[in-house]
Parts: sequence; structure tokens; C-alpha cells
Amino acid sequence: AKKEREDAKIDGAVQIAIGIKKEVDFAGWYTNVLIKADMLDYYNVSGCYILRPWSYSIWEVIQDWFNARIREMGVQNAYFPMFVSSRVLEREKDHIEGFSPEVAWVTRAGQSELDEPIAIRPTSETVMYPYYAKWIKSHRDLPLKLNQWNNVVRWEFKNPQPFLRTREFLWQEGHTAFLTKEEADKEVREILDLYRQVYEDLLAVPVIQGVKSEKEKFAGGLYTTTVEGFVPTTGRGIQAGTSHCLGQNFSRPEMFNIFVEDPNDTTKKAYIWQNSWGLSTRTIGVMVMIHGDNQGLVLPPRVASIQVVIVPCGVTAKTSDEQRKAISDKCDELANVLKSVGVKAKADLREGYTPGFKFNDWEQKGVPLRLEIGPADLAKNQTLTVRRDTGIKAPLPLADVTTAVPKLLDTIQADMFKRAQDTYFSRLKQVTRWEDVVPTLDDKCVVVMPWCEEEACEDDIKERSARSAEPQDERAPSAGAKSLCIPFDQSRWPSIEPGKTKCAACGKDAKRWTMFGRSY
Ligand code: AMP
Ligand code: ZN
Repeated sequence: AKKEREDAKIDGAVQIAIGIKKEVDFAGWYTNVLIKADMLDYYNVSGCYILRPWSYSIWEVIQDWFNARIREMGVQNAYFPMFVSSRVLEREKDHIEGFSPEVAWVTRAGQSELDEPIAIRPTSETVMYPYYAKWIKSHRDLPLKLNQWNNVVRWEFKNPQPFLRTREFLWQEGHTAFLTKEEADKEVREILDLYRQVYEDLLAVPVIQGVKSEKEKFAGGLYTTTVEGFVPTTGRGIQAGTSHCLGQNFSRPEMFNIFVEDPNDTTKKAYIWQNSWGLSTRTIGVMVMIHGDNQGLVLPPRVASIQVVIVPCGVTAKTSDEQRKAISDKCDELANVLKSVGVKAKADLREGYTPGFKFNDWEQKGVPLRLEIGPADLAKNQTLTVRRDTGIKAPLPLADVTTAVPKLLDTIQADMFKRAQDTYFSRLKQVTRWEDVVPTLDDKCVVVMPWCEEEACEDDIKERSARSAEPQDERAPSAGAKSLCIPFDQSRWPSIEPGKTKCAACGKDAKRWTMFGRSY
């Protein structure tokens, strides 16, 4: 009877397992993982979601890390209002053209219509720059470097996807102003490298750094740099974070008119150089898609709010009360020992749940490492370690935990990154002939090809790589490819010979190797 009760509870545990296979129905799997890991809940406004503590804590890790780095660069945090008047929002023509289809407006307060509708920021260039014009009066006021952690609203009509594409999302937006282009250029790349580190070092997600094509750059900017990620299960690229050089486009006289006296020639005005850069909660979705498996979420140790869970095992009806207490005391003690060396550990001493249920529960939530302690372990002064990422089990003497557990967590972090990076690179296919482009995309790979960098050619590629003449949802497996980025590191591919190497799509002279892919 006892055995039957155990089995029944394990059945209960099976019911709460993910249930949809990652390889079979990726979209269904993804939302199931998020719900069952307690990361997210649905909300009754389409495209908006609730971030529960299990995901919000990851955002807090990113915030803490990023804040420390930008502070070293002299960036200060501030807060600007979420509302912007239509007059100001519409001042930069290219910028508003890019954003206007997605801007949400407040038109009414209570019973009365507003005289002038007020927009909710889709991004804050136009909110902030009138004040930059006011505050920057001399070259001594430069550089000005502000950042804000906030929400923005982009009323997108493409299919929403939790974290990846939501109508309201959380991000940081940095806005900086310099006297010279050189300083602006340098900062663009420094910030982009911080974004790379957020992905690679914290989230164990590999990215490729590069510059966007003219078609894909930020509306109203001079150029856009990007970290591009890759979701192997769907073979799709994902724009993971962007650092823009706005040039003098927003500072020129017809725009926000932000200038100082030229320190080299006081009879002249020097219009300032500006950057803006943003990283959103999309980070979390990319991490889930890459590392999650059919048991649920898999968290990289560096962002896990619980890194190690300790579960008492092997307690049966025959186990004496003393033995029972000795095991749970040992679990508690182990958690405290680990906490004392900075490991985020928790002993799961919940009564009335089987070990099998607890294993499942923490596996779904992606806790990187499980430690089991049963009567035999207690007798031998050891614990059984079970890795979430590989399932590998190994005994560990309790005397060694303070050194061995942090080391094992580092190994898990490094292994997760290495596996994801090997996959990304193996799916980045060098292609030089058009005939190979679509089959490579259909193979769930990203194409890297010599490209002419002309906008008409990019439009053409998108059309020719869509497998049907019907207009496509961006998420359809047959949607057309767009340029993801022109990688900064071109050395992975043979050098482009000017005048000789031809664009794989149109046959004109190629400029650089460029990544094309179907994307989110
Ligand atoms: P942008 O200001 O358009 O360069 O956006 C900055 C970053 O925010 C992008 O690189 C994306 O990674 C992310 N992002 C853009 N749109 C969304 C969205 N609808 N939901 C979540 N993240 C987004
Ligand atoms: Zn071309």
C-alpha cells in the first residue's frame, strides 16, 4: 500500500511535467515551460504578460551587473516621464516614420477628450533630447551620459511572444552625448561588448556582434550595432540587443538643436554626437529557448536565484524519527554551509511530497544542481550531486562541498555556453551561390554570404527566400530571410576580393560577409 502511494505521487509528478516536446511543438513547449516554471502568467490585454519572481529575479541580476559596469563608464541613472506630446514625438521624420505604426496614444482622461492626444513612449529619444538641448551649454557639459530602467510600449501587430515580442516591455535605454564622433563610436562598441557579456557570461547564450544593414538600422540613427542570437530549434536569428550611433541627426538645428561652442574655433557651433542603446527582457526568452529541454527550464548558475536545491531521500515508513531528523538537519546544515560561501542554496524540507515530486518540481524550474541526502549518504558522509543540464550524477564527500560545489556550478555555466556556441557555429553556413541559400535556410541554418549591401538586393532576397507568394506572418516557417548583421569579425571567412568576389544574391561586387536568416 505504501509503495502504491509512492507511485501515485510520482504519477502526480509526471502530470506536471512539460508535456509538449520541444522538437514537436516549439511554441507550445515554450509557453508551457514559462508557465510551469512560474516565470510568467498570461494577462487579459493581448501582448502583455506578468513577470513572476522566478523570471524577474533574472532581470534583477542583469540590472545589477549592467549598472555596475555603466557606472564605471560614468553613466548615471535617471528617470523621464512615459508620456510625450505629439509635437515633440513627430519632430524627427525618419524616427517617427519608423515608430508611428506602433505608438499607443492616450486620447481621453475620465470623461473628457484631451485637446491634444499624448503618446506613450516607444523609446525616449524625443522625450529626453529637448532637455539635452537645455542642459548642454558648453563643451564642459560633455559628455552627458544618462541611462534609465523603464518600460516602453510598442503596439506591435505581429504575433506576440512572451519576452521576445511584447507590447509593453522592460529595458534599459542609455542616451549619451559627446563632442566628437570618435568618442561616440568608441562608446557604441563598449556598450555592445557589455551586451555580449550579459548574454555570454550571465545567460550562457552565444551572440555574434556586427553592424545592421541600412534597411535594418534604427529609425533616424546613423548606424546600428547589434548582438545577434540564434534559436537552433527553429533555425531563427534573434536581435538580442542594439547599440546605436545617432550621429548628429537629432542634434542638428531643425531637430533638437543641441550644440556647444566649438572649443577649437569659438566662432563656430559644434553639434553634438549622440548614441542610444537598449537591452530588454527579451534576454530572458532567448535564454529559455536555447537552454530549456523536455523537463522544463534549465537555468545557467549565474542567473539562478536558487543554484542548488538539497532534497532528503530514501526516507520510508521504516525510517526512525531520529534518522528522519538527522537527514533533514543535515540538509539544513548543508544549505547553510553553502550559503556561507556565497552559493544560493535551499533545502527542500516540505512534508507530504515524495522526493520524485520534488525532483520534478525543481527540474521544471531549472535549478542547476540538486544534492540528495539519504540514510546511506549520511552514513558515508557524502551527498549525491545531480546536474540539471546533463543529468550526470556523482557522489561528493560532504567535507569537500565548499570548494567542489562552486567549482561544479562554474563547470555547468561553462559547459552550457560551450554547447550552445558549438551549435550556433555549426549552423552558420558559408554560402556563395544563390541556389544554396534557401535549402540552407530550410535546414534551420543561418547563411553567411558575400553581399553587395544594397537595399534593393535585401528586399529581393526577402522575396526570393519566402517559399510562397502569399504574404507571410514573420513566424511562418517559410517567411523570407532578412539580413541579421554584418559581423565585425570577418576573419572566419575567406577575404572578399574587391571587384572579384560577387554578391551571392545579385552578382554585383560584394562588400562584406553578411548573415541572412529567418528571424523572430
Ligand atoms: P530598439 O530600440 O528598437 O533598438 O530596441 C532595443 C532592443 O529591445 C532590441 O534590440 C530588442 O532586443 C529589444 N526589443 C525590441 N522590441 C521588443 C519587443 N516588442 N519586446 C521585447 N523586446 C524588444
Ligand atoms: Zn546583392
